[in-house]
Amino acid sequence: MLKDKTVVVTGAAKGIGKAVALAFAKEGCNIVLNYHSSVSDETIQEIEACGVKCLPVQGDVSDFAFAGSLVKQVKKEFGSIDVLVNNAGITRDMLLMRMSEEQFDAVIDTNLKGTFNMIRHASSLMLKQRSGAIINMSSVVGVTGNAGQANYAASKAGVIGLTKATAKELAARGVTCNAIAPGFVETDMTAVLSEELQAQMLEVIPLKRAAKPEEIADAAVFLADQSYITGQVLNVDGGMVM
Ligand code: NAP
Repeated sequence: MLKDKTVVVTGAAKGIGKAVALAFAKEGCNIVLNYHSSVSDETIQEIEACGVKCLPVQGDVSDFAFAGSLVKQVKKEFGSIDVLVNNAGITRDMLLMRMSEEQFDAVIDTNLKGTFNMIRHASSLMLKQRSGAIINMSSVVGVTGNAGQANYAASKAGVIGLTKATAKELAARGVTCNAIAPGFVETDMTAVLSEELQAQMLEVIPLKRAAKPEEIADAAVFLADQSYITGQVLNVDGGMVM
C-alpha cells in the first residue's frame, strides 16, 4: 500500500525522525529528509540502501517561507506528497517563574508554528490530490502537562488542537490528520535529563522501560497506511497515560 509513495519527514537527521524515515523507506517509500543543522552521509545511505530515493533538504520548519519552498521542491522532484510527518521539535525546559520569553517563543515557533507551516503548504497539494496522510508528533506532556515544561506542554497541546482542526477541514477531500503522543523515548532529547529524572519517569511507565525510536516509527507507518482514522491522538507511551 505504501510502496512508491512520497513521504516528507521533518527533523529527520536523528532520533525519532530518522527512525520514521527509515521505517517508511523499508516500506518502499521515497523519502524527503528535512534536517536542521546537519545530516550524516551514513543516514542518507542507510535510507537509499532500502532501494528508494532520498532527498535531503536543509532548513528550519519555523520559517514559513522555507516550508513553502520545501513543498515546492518536493512537488517538482516527486509530483506529490503522500505522507507528511511533522516530527521536528525542541525543548527549552525551565520552571515557569524563570522561563524567558525567548525560551517560550523558540519552542512554540518550532513545535507548533513549524507544524502549522508544513501543513499549510503541504495541504494545498494534498487537497488537489484528494489524498494524503498528515502525522504530527505531539507528546503525552501535551495531554497531562509537566512541571518545568510550560512552553513544551503548550506547544504539544497546541499540536493536538491543530491536528483535530486540520482533520475536520481536510477530511472531505480524503486527507487524514492524526497525532502521535510518545511518552519517554531513548533519543538525544531525553539523554540530557538527569539519571534521577530518568529513573522517576521509568517508575510511572507500566511497561517499565523507555521506547525505542523505532516503536514510535511503527505507529507513524500504521497511521499512514490506513484510511478510516482521523483526528486522533495515538499514545505510544508504554501505558504512561491511560
Ligand atoms: P531529537 O533527537 O532532539 O531530534 C529532534 C530533531 O528535530 C533534530 O534532528 C533537530 O535538528 C530537528 N529540529 C529541531 N529544530 C528544527 C527546526 N526548526 N527545523 C527542522 N528541524 C529541526 O528529538 P526526538 O526525541 O527524536 O524528538 C522528535 C519529536 O518527538 C519531537 O517533536 C519531540 O518533541 C517528540 N517527542 C519526543 C519524546 C522523547 O521522549 N524523545 C517524547 C515525546 C515527544 P538539529 O539537532 O539539527 O537542530
